[in-house]
Amino acid sequence: MTAASGIGHAAGKINVMTTTEDLAAIAREIGGDKITADSIAKGYQDPHFVEPKPSFLLKLQKADLLAVVGLQLEIGWLPPLQTQSRNAKIQVGGPGYLDMSQFCQILEIPQGQVTRAMGDVHPLGNPHYWLDPQNGRRIAKAFADKFSQMDGGDAAFFQQQYASFDKRLADAEKGWVAKMAPYKGRKVVTYHRSWPNFCERFGLDVVDYVEPRPGIPPTPSHTLELINRMKSENVKLLLMEPYFDRKTPDSVAHAVGGEVAMLMPSVGGNKEITTYFQLFDYDINTLVNLFQKFK
Ligand SMILES: [Zn+2]
Repeated sequence: MTAASGIGHAAGKINVMTTTEDLAAIAREIGGDKITADSIAKGYQDPHFVEPKPSFLLKLQKADLLAVVGLQLEIGWLPPLQTQSRNAKIQVGGPGYLDMSQFCQILEIPQGQVTRAMGDVHPLGNPHYWLDPQNGRRIAKAFADKFSQMDGGDAAFFQQQYASFDKRLADAEKGWVAKMAPYKGRKVVTYHRSWPNFCERFGLDVVDYVEPRPGIPPTPSHTLELINRMKSENVKLLLMEPYFDRKTPDSVAHAVGGEVAMLMPSVGGNKEITTYFQLFDYDINTLVNLFQKFK
């Protein structure tokens, strides 16, 4: 590696920090042994709400690059950490700041005036976009281009890594789409709006949510409406994330004779899932097993 190339990092590996484990996993696919990547939030945590720790500051101080999901996913916890790190490179607009949302297909972008008054934690569009492999591919390309810019001597390596990732992902996607094909158009309910990209990609129809609004806990009146809707539309599966309380989802599933599908929204959601590929393997296998129970 040539130390003097690009926009600057200390000689040696590019030190990448990411907000989520998904971004770190994709960074490793592209950066190989020429980078180190670590994430702030763990995959089993709700990425909207992460408790800042002093150890995060130390890591951010040393980072050459900070990659974020953006769309205000991290607004509740990241900005003070960035400021307190006093690392000019990783401030918004800095040479080592990479907002992946700008490269990806974003769903649920609000029309008209945006307000947080109703507690909506998705005011700029849905930030859970990494759950479509097409967006994972775009994230990977953004990393390849950024690493190439930062370490010009290894640009060919990073682009080769991207080409390899792209091909492996395309092969895996064929398998995932084939597994989900028999269930195309199935109606599901989700807890939080974590799954629009996933469901659009794999052909599921999300008819309602346990949360009345993104970030707002379930209410008795909304839960009753939800149960009635699921009964009338014959919806049996409720997709949820591991960091929410199961009480309401379990009672809803019981009321409609259905089941809760505990899916993993991120790499690191459990110990089995250490790569971006394993994330989709896990979620799709979990769904297929449950769909087979409800013809
Ligand atoms: Zn969200």
